[in-house]
Amino acid sequence: MGIGPTIENGFYYDFDLKESLTPEDLPKLEKRIRELIRQDLKMTGSKATTASARKLFKDQPYKLDLIKDFVKEKKQLTVYKLGDMFSDLCKGGHVKNTKEINPDAFKLTHLAGAYWKGDEGNAQLQRVYGVAFSSKTDMEKYLWQQEEARKRDHRKLGQELDLFTFSELVGPGLPLFTPKGTVLRDLLDDFVWSLRKKYGYQRVDIPHITKKDLYETSGHWSKFKSELFRINTREGHEFALKPMNCPHHIQIFARRKWSFRDLPQRYASTTKIYRDEQAGELSGLVRVRSITQDDAHVFCDMARTESELKNVWEIVHEFYGAFNLPLKLRLSLRDPKQPDKYLGDGKLWKDAEAILSVVADKKIGKGKYECALGEAAFYGPKIDFMAIDSLGREWQVATIQLDLNMPKRFGLTFTNDKGSQSQIFMIHAAIMGSIERFLAILIEHYAGAFPLWLSPVQVQVIAVSEKFQSYAEKIAKDLQAADIRAELAEANETLGKRIREGETQKVPYILIVGEKEKQADTVAVRKRGKGDIGTTTISSLIKSLQEEITKRK
Ligand code: ZN
Repeated sequence: MGIGPTIENGFYYDFDLKESLTPEDLPKLEKRIRELIRQDLKMTGSKATTASARKLFKDQPYKLDLIKDFVKEKKQLTVYKLGDMFSDLCKGGHVKNTKEINPDAFKLTHLAGAYWKGDEGNAQLQRVYGVAFSSKTDMEKYLWQQEEARKRDHRKLGQELDLFTFSELVGPGLPLFTPKGTVLRDLLDDFVWSLRKKYGYQRVDIPHITKKDLYETSGHWSKFKSELFRINTREGHEFALKPMNCPHHIQIFARRKWSFRDLPQRYASTTKIYRDEQAGELSGLVRVRSITQDDAHVFCDMARTESELKNVWEIVHEFYGAFNLPLKLRLSLRDPKQPDKYLGDGKLWKDAEAILSVVADKKIGKGKYECALGEAAFYGPKIDFMAIDSLGREWQVATIQLDLNMPKRFGLTFTNDKGSQSQIFMIHAAIMGSIERFLAILIEHYAGAFPLWLSPVQVQVIAVSEKFQSYAEKIAKDLQAADIRAELAEANETLGKRIREGETQKVPYILIVGEKEKQADTVAVRKRGKGDIGTTTISSLIKSLQEEITKRK
């Protein structure tokens, strides 16, 4: 026997066996586990000396190896016993009795090979994975989620729907977006911008690199150390690719003096940031090295901070509401026991945390949200929003951060109504956060079947045969003229094949035209998920499509 820890999603145990386990063995093992559970076996733990542990596990070479490590690290050995039939070298943290385990709510999910201590030079063991829940319903929900998530994997769907690609030459973690993927990105960004515009945001534009000095002042140079892409110029200066936009926006604000009458100033940019994530951590669009942020910063006085925070709140809710993504909120505060982890003095933190709490209390209700100590950004507390997707999974999405430190470090002030200088309060307000990550969430949330307004191709026009291709072309042109993203299918395949192709591409509407439609100047409409929905004139179709698009149904 090797080791058997709990992991993020379940548990495993490693075994060195003469015979190879197959998936068919797992139900047999489950049956045996159920028998043991029903015996109401007690689980008892006790400390062990090195000598007694060595004696107990004299036939278990891997346990002896672990004991050696424990002795080296001067760690206490503990042994856990199941009834009086089985003992294991184990840290504990178990149920007290097997009857606490629901025999219908666990499952051994799969097998894998694993080297002892993860070292290829060591023996290969057989790893058995499993999950356990308190109820059967919870387990079934989880297993369904896993299965469904596999089918919806954005990396797979992203290829099939031709949304993005990666290139060996460009490098890992650097996604390249195709024309269709770019349509999607632009639509999402335009949507955020349309919401921001209502609240007086202005667009600004910034370079992707900066002198080291900017980040020394902001504090990013030491905080982002290993994640920072550094650049050395031929003149021997040190530059960096930006890992954040805040310091650049601050320098735009700092270009002149401000009076209280000029505030708030609200700057927004959709721009890329770069982080040198380790190759092993990269994953599809969820974890990348080039991240597009829909970033914004509000510079205001203390009195107007609350209403500005509420405006960001409104934008966040309107945005996520359009995708049917309900939000959960978490107030992320600093860990008062680890003041070294954060910039700035305690007083500023208290003020900022108090303002954010007031906003959360007013919007959600006191005590109705989670407070997470130690989850704050290093420069300020934040409100984190978690979106719940169609599979019931939680994703951290938007954040609203209140920052009193960065303005202080950069000496940002304004002339108040008494004619003296007051400190600027700064709000960081990204709505999607990372467009790449949000796109990954959306692809899986919709299983690639985007609502009409977001679909890269909204309508596909198919002629039943070559003879009607010019009529189909006219229909496609009419739709395009009405700003509908219509595509004409080539006439080189069978009708059935072209319809199927449109369906696998998850095109919301497929129009089919032949003799009858041409004569009557109509189109036959197939709606995604519904099939044939009848015949209509092109003008009434355009009208109803436009309505569906405008309302983001
Ligand atoms: Zn920021």
